[in-house]
Amino acid sequence: MSVVNEALIRDVVADVLARLGGVPAAAKPAPAPAATPAKSDCGCGGKSSAGPARRGTFGVFEDANEACAAAQESFLQLQKAGVAARVKIIDIVKTMAAANAQTWGKLELDETKIGRLDHKIAKLEIIKLVPGVEWLRPDARSGDHGITLEEYTPFGVVGAVTPSTHSIPTLSGNIVNICAAGNAVVFNPHPSAARCAAVAVRAYNEAIFRETGIENIATIITKPTMESFAAMCKHEAVRLLLVTGGPGVVKAAMQTGKRAICAGPGNPPVYVDDTACMTRAAKAIIQGASFDNNLLCIGEKEVFALDRIADKLMAQMEQNGALKLTNAQLDALTKAAFTIKPGEGGGCGHASVNKDFIGKDPIVLAKAAGVNLPAGTQLLFAETDANHPFVVEEQMMPFLPIVRVKNLEDGVARSLEAEHGYKHTSIIHSHDLEALTQMGRALDTTLFIKNGPCMAGLGLGGEGYLSFSIATPTGEGVSNPRTFTRVRRCVMVDNLKIY
Ligand code: NAD
Repeated sequence: MSVVNEALIRDVVADVLARLGGVPAAAKPAPAPAATPAKSDCGCGGKSSAGPARRGTFGVFEDANEACAAAQESFLQLQKAGVAARVKIIDIVKTMAAANAQTWGKLELDETKIGRLDHKIAKLEIIKLVPGVEWLRPDARSGDHGITLEEYTPFGVVGAVTPSTHSIPTLSGNIVNICAAGNAVVFNPHPSAARCAAVAVRAYNEAIFRETGIENIATIITKPTMESFAAMCKHEAVRLLLVTGGPGVVKAAMQTGKRAICAGPGNPPVYVDDTACMTRAAKAIIQGASFDNNLLCIGEKEVFALDRIADKLMAQMEQNGALKLTNAQLDALTKAAFTIKPGEGGGCGHASVNKDFIGKDPIVLAKAAGVNLPAGTQLLFAETDANHPFVVEEQMMPFLPIVRVKNLEDGVARSLEAEHGYKHTSIIHSHDLEALTQMGRALDTTLFIKNGPCMAGLGLGGEGYLSFSIATPTGEGVSNPRTFTRVRRCVMVDNLKIY
């Protein structure tokens, strides 16, 4: 076939697709070569960015190297397409996350079997609050020696790991941030939330391809393993890592030798004193701790209440949708929800969370506690001591331990212990400036929320913006497009100063 004929056929196909509601003629992407070999023959295991990536899978790949190579190719396409294409991609992801919130929320719940459907849906509906390209204003300086611009520019391909607790929301928010900064992304999702993630990635890429001709701006590894994680991290195209998860993946990412942005674990303490409004505090605590059955990393996980108001706080919690357990019921729930491994050396037993209870509905916990659950109960709670497993472990269940403390110093010290130095999130209910300041300084957490529920820290009822990846041990904070950029300086000497 002559070159002329090939070009003619390509244009005709693009026009027909456009009329059928497919690819707009303006985008004119090259037609997908049906079966470009999966790996190059050069022996590099597909790592080389030289050959074209396999087409037609819309970001979904079994092989980590293929997923990385395809993302690299799309990064180069995005570079050419410019900021307008980034804006389009973000618009598609935000619109589709909201439009598919019901379907994808259910899909994720069916696969992971943790959390609550209404909140899974809500987490997708709020992707629109994740910041985009407007975040990337250059810093400019001008003076006698001309002008200098510091620009926020892309890295290339970002390798990302997502948690089981919010799989599609995290990957959607990550795509918005990462692509706003001009990058492409490869996901190694949590194995127990990988199928729903692949559905979303494919749908996003299909729509993005239709609008921009870029097919693999976000790729995903369909059968994620430790090996695929290692392959992704090692791939030459992957310039930066973003991991969202517990201590294991944070440690693994930091050992790769690549720069890693780590959104790590938390165990957020709440301190309540006698200057707080008990009704407001109780409502906020229930709202935060019951959200998605307490799967949020920022969610209230244990409460330290000043002794003289503890009863009042608990009474308000009971009046606002939480159920108090007796000591016997707490013991029964603790036995079911934790496995106490015999102590080594020192003799102290170590509690680990029973995964069957993570993110489960209050009714499941109530059954284990041997209590009837009144309709509409959002959260269970009980009084415990500060060393109770429900305080010490990041338990992610709709249950809150309430611990009495003597004074501010005691409350701050206990909170600090329970937070384990993750520097993630802490919360206070108080109108005492001394208490607010002392706790804020001592806890030193990435998010410190005063007189509101945890989600106020992510722009939901408080000022600020949303991300599902809060970089804690590595210090970038609530991630945003700038988190995924390289700062580059462009200097014009002695010219273009216009005053
Ligand atoms: P998890 O740690 O079990 O898994 C998170 C991800 O890391 C998964 O994709 C998993 O496959 C991968 N992973 C785990 N260990 C790994 C290792 N050694 N090497 C490579 N990959 C590994 O966490 P989860 O249960 O899915 O999510 C809950 C945890 O994530 C909690 O600790 C929570 O606080 C944290 N989290 C933090 C944030 C944040 O923004 N800081 C957001 C959501 C969740």
